Order: sequence, then structure tokens, then C-alpha cells
Amino acid sequence: MTNTWRQRLNTALMSDYTPEAAAFWWLMVGLGASVLAGCLLWLLRQPWAVAVQMAAGLALAVGSGLFPVRVPGTKQSFAVGEVFIFLVLLMIGPAGAAIVAAAETGLGAFRTSKRWTSRLVTPAITALSIWTTGSLLQAALMRLGAAGAASTAVVAAAMMAFAALYFVVNAVLLTGLQRLKRGEPLFRPWEAVMAVAALRWVGMAYAGSAALATLLYVTYRQQGSGVLWVMVPLLAMLLVTLHFYFRQQEVHEALRDASRSAAAREAVLMLRETESTERHLKALQASEHRFHSAFTHASIGMALLDLDGHILQANAALARLLGCSEAELQQSRVQDCVLAEDCAALELQLAGTRHAGFEGFALELRCRHRDGGTVWMALHCGYFTEPGAATASLILQAQDVSARRRAEAGLQHMAFHDSLTGLPNRRRFVECLVGVVARRQSDATRPWAMMFLDFDHFKLVNDSLGHNVGDALLQQVARRVQERLRPGDTVARLGGDEFAILVDHIADERDALILAERLLEALKQPFVLGDVELIASASIGITFSSQGYTAAEDVLRDADTAMYKAKAAGRARYAVFDASLHAAVTERLRLEGDLRRAIERGELRVEYQPVFALGSAGGAEPGALSSFEALVRWEHPQEGRLLPAAFLHVAEDSGLMLALSDFVLHQACQQVRQWQLADTAHARLGLAVNISAHDLGNPALVARVSRALAVSGLRPQDLTLELTENILMAHIEAALGTLAALRALGVKLAVDDFGTGYSSLAHLSQLPIDSLKIDRSFVSQLRRRSVDSDEVADAAPAAVVSAIIQLGNTLHKAVVAEGIETAAQMDQLRELGCAYGQGFHLARPLSAAQASAWLHGAGGVSH
Ligand code: C2E
Ligand code: CA
Ligand code: CA
Repeated sequence: MTNTWRQRLNTALMSDYTPEAAAFWWLMVGLGASVLAGCLLWLLRQPWAVAVQMAAGLALAVGSGLFPVRVPGTKQSFAVGEVFIFLVLLMIGPAGAAIVAAAETGLGAFRTSKRWTSRLVTPAITALSIWTTGSLLQAALMRLGAAGAASTAVVAAAMMAFAALYFVVNAVLLTGLQRLKRGEPLFRPWEAVMAVAALRWVGMAYAGSAALATLLYVTYRQQGSGVLWVMVPLLAMLLVTLHFYFRQQEVHEALRDASRSAAAREAVLMLRETESTERHLKALQASEHRFHSAFTHASIGMALLDLDGHILQANAALARLLGCSEAELQQSRVQDCVLAEDCAALELQLAGTRHAGFEGFALELRCRHRDGGTVWMALHCGYFTEPGAATASLILQAQDVSARRRAEAGLQHMAFHDSLTGLPNRRRFVECLVGVVARRQSDATRPWAMMFLDFDHFKLVNDSLGHNVGDALLQQVARRVQERLRPGDTVARLGGDEFAILVDHIADERDALILAERLLEALKQPFVLGDVELIASASIGITFSSQGYTAAEDVLRDADTAMYKAKAAGRARYAVFDASLHAAVTERLRLEGDLRRAIERGELRVEYQPVFALGSAGGAEPGALSSFEALVRWEHPQEGRLLPAAFLHVAEDSGLMLALSDFVLHQACQQVRQWQLADTAHARLGLAVNISAHDLGNPALVARVSRALAVSGLRPQDLTLELTENILMAHIEAALGTLAALRALGVKLAVDDFGTGYSSLAHLSQLPIDSLKIDRSFVSQLRRRSVDSDEVADAAPAAVVSAIIQLGNTLHKAVVAEGIETAAQMDQLRELGCAYGQGFHLARPLSAAQASAWLHGAGGVSH
């Protein structure tokens, strides 16, 4: 029961106490309470004067406790209440002292601590300590008194010994409780000594109090209680004064501390401020240093200028760019370094620097290098404010952009020049021409001429000797032409082997003709191209400003027309454009209109020239009709019957070719199908139709052919399409797909005019071709054999024809000889093994009616 009550109290009041500490606490409180109880019982038995003395002592002790005196230089203070407690001890005895001390410390503990444990244990320990030690003192003094040795000095010494003992016991017990609470042993001698040493001031105060109390007690014993009534208040006043004195000292001390720390803070702040100013200065110096070293060591040119362009300072890079020293630059103006032509632009920009709102400028201009060369510079200029400078200056950055400028110029050159010859290109030439045409309109006093120069047989060179030789030839032609022109003249390469020359400022039209002759003569000289020596020629067409041109295209067109006239007249010559040529152009335009109408009005006809089997090739009977070649004719209302040579080029140029081809294709297919159906003897009669370069390039060709076949009912294998070798070779890459598609349709293909196109024979085996038609020019040369019997002269053409025939046989291509005009030619072709033949000797081209009649009568003509 008691246990539970104690445990509850323990947990409530002493949660932080170890069991030992709690036990110790209970022991102290129990003993202290017993001592106090005993003391109070004793007090009740005393006379009232003792109680008054007790009350006075208690009041003084408690009152002085309110004014503790701080020990200077320490955190410790002592209450002078002990003087009165010790006085009570000497006057009344240990019981009185215990009650007064317990009351005094109890009140102090009550004030300083909220915990009842310490409020109770502190007075209990005090009571216990003072009672035990006080009792010892009392016993000692009684012994001394009995022995007659209780002099004032002995009492004082005994009193001080008591005070020391009381202090030690009290301190050991109080700190013992704390130590037990921390789980340490109650008492360690060495630590006790340390604790006493730490509290030495309090000990000294006890000793002093004890001495004072002894003095008062001795005086009281000798003088009576009156002296106490004077001494004690005096003493109290002294203590209060001391208290306040020390308090004042403390305040002063605190103020001094405060001002010292304020000063220290201020000093720290000032230090920091000084540091930041210094840092700022250092940063400025560093940035200036950085700028200076950036300026000096920059890889781009830099200079400081005044607003007029005087160079105040220049770096090494700028000096290097201009090829002079920094010192030299410092004595000059930036304008002095710039080419005269570009100076105005710079001056304009510099003038702008004086205007409000100037935001700097960037400029590219040419500068003079010391070595006489020119440097393209990109300049960037802006204000530069030097700290403390009265006037603004400019900072100029200069970069060498010559390389970029050269690249740009190169690109510009490429856009307006021909890469092969380095001459101006068509674009550039037309620009020049536009210029002179415009000038001529305002100023007719300065005539000019334009020449169109076309190399003769250039394609032959290119095809037979290769493109590298062709290119080298064009370069040499360009050089030769250029060398013979005057500085003001312009020669351009328009493309391929076409050159144009603008001869400006001629005094007389004859000047231009003389130049043309000189050029023709120059181009007739042999060209040496690697190990090949080549003799060549050119044809020139000339036109003059006197024609009154208003458009550059007209000039080009007329020079071109004149050039064709020169070619037609036999090449290697010049021709001048004149009104009659103009008339030819007009004539051509008229013809073009006529042809357009001719197709609509049905003025076109088809003639059929028979092709015969010469030998027994392909199982055909020798001399049997194999097929017809369809040849177009124009029944012109005014001009009569026209052959293809008179109008095919017009059809090509005016886009009428496809319509013409379609007409022939449909007409011939229907006609031949009719003949096939009319007579079983001609059931396998073949048809050859010529197609043009336009047709070959036409994506709808396959569809058009199959449509003609479908409409007529002709079998595809009975139709052969003839393409001249030149057309085929010029468009070979693009044509391969179309040829394959036609082949897939079942249609046959023939190479017309074979031997004139300089086609590489190697190509032939890869082409989807069924037959070769040996060109008329080779066949016509065979004729001489029987006429003049010149075996040596005959050898070459015979060899060519023979080679073609053998090639055809090897590649399994049928070979047709066209243009057979004599029996001798036919015989020789037969001997050489040529399978088919066609020519006036066998049959002329026949109209449809003639052919019908002929077929009906002959059925197959044998020669
Ligand atoms: P080509 O394809 O070589 O046709 C043969 C030409 O030689 C025809 O001339 C024909 O009349 C002619 N000829 C035939 N045998 C002899 C002969 O023994 N001696 C001589 N001197 N000539 C002979 P044509 O009819 O004047 O046709 C010329 C060219 O026009 C043709 O040459 C052909 O390339 C083209 N051509 C004719 N008709 C057409 C056509 O309908 N369409 C296309 N695209 N071209 C056609
Ligand atoms: Ca033909
Ligand atoms: Ca031919």
C-alpha cells in the first residue's frame, strides 16, 4: 500500500530520478523532516524571548536573501543570510539555526524552482546539515567552556571550522542528489574536492559570515542586546549597499560589454565594407587589365579612334592585317588605310557617330596593305567609354574577310561564266546584249555587230574522239577567238559548240566582216589535242545594229539564222543576216501555218516504196516483195507536191511532228492491212514507218502505236518502226525503255541511215533492234565498180558495206540496203550477203492507188 503510494508519487514527482536518487531523496526529506519536527518541539518549550529572537533572525536572513551579493568576476553570488543564521546558532542553538536555515533556503528554493522535489529536499538537507554540524559545534563549545578555553578567538576559530564543515556537508549532500540523478555514485572524494574548489567563493562567504556572526555574538555577550539593535540594521544597510553597488558595477560592466560588442560589430562591418570597396577596385583593375590584354592579344584587329577617325591606339593584329607597325598606325587616320573608292562609305558612317542615337555600324570595305595588295575587312564600330575620359571615343574591330569575298566572287563568276572555257555564259551575254540594244535606241552613232559562231562537225569529234578531246577542243577554240578580239568585245559560250561574240563600237560594218574572216582563218589552223591533230572549221552568222533591234532575243535569232545560211552554203564561212534572210524566216513562218492547216485539211499523202528480198534470207524467195516503207508527201495547194525535206524541219520546230507521224501511222497501217486482206499472197506483207526524235521522246508513243494497230487490225510483227541512227544515239539513254516497250508490243525496230551516226558498234548488240538499213551514201558509192572498174577506189565503201552486213548477220539483225539505183549495186549487195534491198532501181515510192494496181498486176516482182 505504502509502496504503491510512493511509486505513484515517484513517477509523478521524480520521473527523472534514478531509484537510488529517489531513495536518497526520501532519506534526506525524511531525516530533514524528523530533525525539523524535533527542533520545532524543542522550540515550543522555549521562552517567548527566544521565539522573538528566532523571528528577528529569520526575518533578517530571508530579507538579506533578497539582496544577494554577486561575487565580482564570477557568476556566483552569496546571500548574507548566513550571518544571521550563524548568529541564531550561537545565540539559540542548533535547533533554532536549523529552523531558520530551513525556512530561508525553503523560501529561496520556492522562488527559484518550480519542482516540489527540490523545494522540499533543499530545506531538508540544509536543516539536516546545519543541525548535525551545529550540534557538533555546540558540543565543542560546551567542552571548551567547561575547560575555560572559550576565548573570543577560539570561538571564532571553532565557528569558522563549523562553517567550513557545514558548507562541505551541505554541498556534498546537495550535489550528491544531482549525481545520483545522473546515475553516478553519491560521492567521489576527488570530485568533491573539485566541487568545493569551484564553490570556494561561497565557502569564503561562509567563513566571513561565520567570523562576522562570532563578532556580533561576542559583542552581544559583552554589551547586551542593545548593541545588536544598532549593529544588525547597520549590517543590513551595508549589505544592501554592497548589493546595489555590485548591481551597478554589473550594469556598467554590461554597458561596457554592450558598447564593446557594438564597437566590435561596427568594426566588423567597417572591415567588410572596406573589403567590398577593395574588391570592387580590384575587379575594376582586373577588368581593365583583361580589356587591355584582350585588346593587345586579340586575334582580330582592334583600334580606339576619336570621332574623326584618328587612331588613338591600335593592336598588333590590326597592324599585321595592314602590314605596318602599331606605331605607324597611331599616327594615321583610319580613312588613310582604306581604298579611295570605299572611303566615302566610311566617312558617312563616321559622321553618324556624332548623332544622338548612334548605335554603332558594320561595314565591309577594302583596305590597303603595305605590300600594295588589297584586304577585304569587315569593320564593326561602336562607342567606347573610358572611365574618366572627357570625350567619347570609338572602338573599332576589323576582321580579314578576303577569303570569303574571294569565294563569293568565285560563286558570282560561276553564275555568269562557263566552267569549261571560263568565258561569260549565255546569261551574261544576254545581259550585255540587252545593254547595247538599249544604248543603240538612245544613241545610234555607235554601231555594233553580233556574231553567232558554230563549230562544224563538233559532234563528230565528241563522238569519235571522246568528250575529253571535245572539251579540250572547245577550250582552244575559246582561246583562239578571245585572242583575236579587242578589249571592249565580248565572247561568250552559249552552250555546246556555240559561241556568241558582241563586237562593240565598230566604225564600219566591214570591220566586223574582217574580224569574222580572221576568226575563220584562226580556226582553220590545226588543233593539237594530246596526240591527236585535228583540222576543223566553224560557220559564222553576223547581224548588225543597223537592223534597228529593240529586243536582245531578236539579235540572237537573226545571227543564228545567218549562221544556218553559212552552214547551208557549205560551212567554214560567214553569212550576214539581211532582209532576204528575214524573208526566209517569214517564209518558214508561213509554211508552218500552212502545214498546220494541211494536217486538218488532209493535204498530206503517204507513198509506199517496196522493199524486196535480195537473196533467200529468212526463207523468202529471192526478188519477192517483203514490205513497203511509208513516205510522207504534202500536196501543197500553191506549191504542188512537196517532199519531206521541204517541210519535216518545219514540223519538228512547230510541234506538228506528232500529228504528222500519227497521220502516216494510221493511214499506212490501214492501207497495208487492206492489201493483206485483199490477197492471201500478201497476207504477211510488212510495213516500215519512219518515226522522228519527237516521237521517240514522247511518253505516249507506245500507246499511239498500239492504237494504230488496233484500229487497222495490222499485226504488230508486220510493223517495223525506223529510227535514224542519229536520233537513236542522241537519245539512247532515254529511249531504251520506250524501245523495250515497243518490242514487248511485238513491233519490230530498225536503225535507219546506218553508218552515218558514228554510233559505236559496241552499242548495237545491246539495243533491241531487228534490222539495219545501210545508208544510201554507202550504197551509191558501190556503183562505180562496174562503171570505171577502179578496184582500189572501190575497196573502202565495199569494205564498209561488207562490214555492216557481216555485223548484222553476226548479231542476227536483218540488213536492208537502201538507195539501190543500179543493177550492179544490187548484184554486189547480193554477193556481200545483204538480205533486203530498196531503191529506184527496184521501185520508186508509189501512191496508194499505184501500189494497189502494181500489187494487183505483179503480186511479187522478181528482179
Ligand atoms: P529515208 O527514211 O531514208 O527514206 C528513203 C528516202 O530515200 C526517201 O526519200 C526515198 O524517196 C529516197 N529513195 C529511195 N530510193 C532511192 C534511190 O534509189 N535513190 C535516191 N536518191 N533516193 C531514194 P523521201 O521520201 O524524200 O524521204 C526523205 C526522208 O524523210 C526519209 O529518209 C525519212 O527520213 C524522212 N521521212 C519520209 N517520210 C517520213 C515520215 O512519214 N515520217 C518521218 N518521220 N520521216 C519521214
Ligand atoms: Ca526510212
Ligand atoms: Ca534511210
